[in-house]
Amino acid sequence: MNGLMMQQPLLISSLLVHAERHHGDQEIVSRRVEGDIHRCTYRDLASRSRRMAKAIAALGVKPGERVATLAWNGYRHMELYYAVSGSGGVLHTLNPRLHPDQVVYIADHAEDQVLFFDMTFLPLVEAVAGRVKTIKKFVAMTDRAHMPKESKIVGLLCFEDLVDANDDHFEWPTFDENQASSLCYTSGTTGNPKGVLYSHRSTLLHTFAIALPDALNVSARDTILPVVPMFHVNAWGLPYAACMMGAKLVFPGPGLDGKSLYELFETERVTVSAGVPTVWQGLLGYVEAGGLKFSTMRRTVIGGSACPPAMMTAFQQRYDVQVIHAWGMTEMSPVGTAAILKGKHLDLSPEERMAVQATQGRAVYGVDMKIVGEDGAALPWDGKVSGELLVRGPWIIQTYFKGEGGDPLVKDDQGRGWFPTGDVATIDPDGYMHITDRSKDVIKSGGEWIGSIDLENIAMAHPAVAMAACIAALHAKWDERPLLIVVKKHGAELTRDELIKFFEGRIAKWWTPDDVVFVDAIPLGATGKMLKNRLRDQYGKHLLAQG
Ligand code: ADP
Repeated sequence: MNGLMMQQPLLISSLLVHAERHHGDQEIVSRRVEGDIHRCTYRDLASRSRRMAKAIAALGVKPGERVATLAWNGYRHMELYYAVSGSGGVLHTLNPRLHPDQVVYIADHAEDQVLFFDMTFLPLVEAVAGRVKTIKKFVAMTDRAHMPKESKIVGLLCFEDLVDANDDHFEWPTFDENQASSLCYTSGTTGNPKGVLYSHRSTLLHTFAIALPDALNVSARDTILPVVPMFHVNAWGLPYAACMMGAKLVFPGPGLDGKSLYELFETERVTVSAGVPTVWQGLLGYVEAGGLKFSTMRRTVIGGSACPPAMMTAFQQRYDVQVIHAWGMTEMSPVGTAAILKGKHLDLSPEERMAVQATQGRAVYGVDMKIVGEDGAALPWDGKVSGELLVRGPWIIQTYFKGEGGDPLVKDDQGRGWFPTGDVATIDPDGYMHITDRSKDVIKSGGEWIGSIDLENIAMAHPAVAMAACIAALHAKWDERPLLIVVKKHGAELTRDELIKFFEGRIAKWWTPDDVVFVDAIPLGATGKMLKNRLRDQYGKHLLAQG
């Protein structure tokens, strides 16, 4: 017997309708590419998104077709999030930090029809405009006064002209919640980037999940500044969650350095933020150097790569900002776990609580996970045994766009598909998952695994270390041994032997890195992660060379 409740599709446009009706006067503040601060409300966002939806239809975009963006976090990008997906199109957020060849490959693969871009990216767009096969229209996300005097792009359109050319009398269409809403490509550190195609249903369910108190904990009393870019897995879902909950939004635009971020945090009274560890390093550096404090910041979500415990301690103990360590992937919309304490942890000592928070956390409802050994059999949740992490759930990928790479799922005894994350992890009896490595970064020394993340975390706890990467270097006797690549803090003194000694008593002796290479900078990928494959190419034979 069926239940007798209404059937209502879960559509992205409903988030905007809700925000306009219930939080119409809530503010959205953006630092624009033009350099100024722009203020609008959810009422403005809804009205302008409807006008843009009409403009996009007038450009000839049909339901299901892809509309690309190359843009920072800002109100115009947010309008496209709703205008494109809400009217049945697919929003494809391109990552402007990719090489132009990759941008061309991805835009062609996605068969993008229109490209909207911030003026910062005009040179990149000019470089790719003649090469992309399917993009017919290019739109500069600015007003008439800031349009380029001349451009190589024929028929370049202006965002504000499109908004002005339409009124806001527009009803969001109703359609199947399983229709595609947005598209993100993985970074493609191995092989070509692959597309992950989200649906309205997966997006809405993910939004409910991340807004909950034991996940990102978003409310109408919050002011959220997403540092994580809207081109990096939909800014981890915050543009949707903010509408659902009616939170004030502050968009940093291109200003991602410590000074620009700190100023916005303070002037706009930001309470919550989110970003990858490398961004927080810049912010913490600025705050430390100036002897500053956060007057309104209460918590920050850190994910994308492991948050070093030293960073967590700085935020929590020095600045009274709670760190929510979270883990996820593009293939998971992205959030899978968050390291939030349970009631039974509240009486623990600060150090014991920190150990729980330093894990990648427990699964949010909707995400099922397990760890398996090389034979595929499930391993115990004892917090000790590690294995490959597999996940399943309604906002986790079934297959890549256009079936690229074949069927990614692994079947269990009951024929259910699980997505292999490529991460190696332990899970403790309370369900806290701890990533020791990515399977391709694991160091295999004499047949035993050494987790590179633990070694990086220890190095990062040394006061003279700004950034540390640990890689597998080839070794004549042990096959591979850990090698540390380190960037020192500005002006700090540190020798190889001092750093190696720092590991004593902090880790099993045989895990101690064999050597340290000091460098000026560690290469970062398009989403701010350390490019360990490039370091391996460069330093993989370092130990052999030493003999
Ligand atoms: P890619 O960088 O490959 O495009 P994603 O941005 O989707 O992919 O990153 C997913 C990967 O990032 C995860 O599989 C994991 O290895 C790593 N990651 C994400 N969050 C964390 C975290 N909190 N701790 C450790 N690793 C993380």
